[in-house]
Amino acid sequence: MASLNLQAVCNDHRIQLDPINTPSRLLLGPGPSNAHPTVLQALARPPIGHLDPAYLNLMTEVQEMLRYVWQTDNRITIPVSGTGSAAMEASIANSVEPGDVVLVGVNGYFGRRLVDMADRYGADVRTMERPMGQCFSLDEIRLALETHHPAILALVHAETSSGVRQPLEGVAELCSRSGTLLLVDCVTSLGAIPLFLDAWGVDLAYSCSQKGLSCPPGCSPFSMGPRAEQKLADRKGKVANWYLDMSLLNAYWGCDRVYHHTAPVNMNFGIREALRLLCEEGVEAAWARHRHNAERLWDGLQSLGLRLVVDEEIRLHTLTTAYIPEGVDGKAFARALLDEEGIEIGGGLGDLAGKVWRFGLMGHNSRSEHVDRLLGLLKQRLAAQGALA
Ligand SMILES: *Cc1c(COP(=O)(O)O)cnc(C)c1O
Repeated sequence: MASLNLQAVCNDHRIQLDPINTPSRLLLGPGPSNAHPTVLQALARPPIGHLDPAYLNLMTEVQEMLRYVWQTDNRITIPVSGTGSAAMEASIANSVEPGDVVLVGVNGYFGRRLVDMADRYGADVRTMERPMGQCFSLDEIRLALETHHPAILALVHAETSSGVRQPLEGVAELCSRSGTLLLVDCVTSLGAIPLFLDAWGVDLAYSCSQKGLSCPPGCSPFSMGPRAEQKLADRKGKVANWYLDMSLLNAYWGCDRVYHHTAPVNMNFGIREALRLLCEEGVEAAWARHRHNAERLWDGLQSLGLRLVVDEEIRLHTLTTAYIPEGVDGKAFARALLDEEGIEIGGGLGDLAGKVWRFGLMGHNSRSEHVDRLLGLLKQRLAAQGALA
């Protein structure tokens, strides 16, 4: 009989057996963002059965509210059990058949993840590439579609690694000429920046709970339109992922409500409350709030002499990347902000690693008082290091 090991393997932390005690943080990095207090209350409710009539009604509400925030009538619109990457995998697993040409727009870290996933499902993956900080023009997309004739075009609407928004208007019209399905990563845009699945002709989309929706990670919006449903119905082989197979999942989330897997019921309590808050505010008001607070942040950063990575027209309202000033140790600076002020900001990924900070204003956290507090601390701390312009 082994006893509990009290010495951690990877660092010098002694295992504590006190009740859990997490620090209070203001999460102004690339995610997660802080959960809204009433979402936390919803999560703490006692679980009920996942086939309880009360729970089935909650599912219906979650689906209708999701259709509103996605601006879609798609029948298959559900929260996938898992984080954003699980919903990403659902979109790939259900649409890609072995040998399908999948064209991915890669201008950052999450485009690369789509390439890796599509490859694992046997796709013939082709890429369009752009440096981090840039997006794809309609001309580039048209040319790539004509070159590759893909079954699926995958784009990242909000590339959290660089802070770029990929414009989507007009892309579906180009896709329809080659019979291509349009798959879009909306992880850092849903609920925070304008997004119209049906008007923009998006066939497959996924997001997460912990960025624009003010809910902890663990439950991720997914939507699939009629053309993608048809491709799923017509496929020769089974979806190579049992857990995420929408033909099975839809028997639970559709009208039949047949057991598939035990829904993470408390996560769905949480996302229901998060969506209710968004419906109460209205998506247009939420989009305007994110824009307004992002502009306040950009003005403040620039007046401190910080240079922003992304051009204003395609800059995300949820995530801003700024170059770390000359002579400042960006990692140590962020660590001090966390330890001394309880504020989390992000560092760079990929080609921007070590060069930028990433500031997130997502969901409930997109508020002017947070922007002002962050700017005040940046000013004070950069001045103390002699790094103010
Ligand atoms: C965060 C993120 C993901 C992955 O979501 P997880 O919840 O971390 O699994 C995917 N795409 C983008 C653009 C993201 O920002």
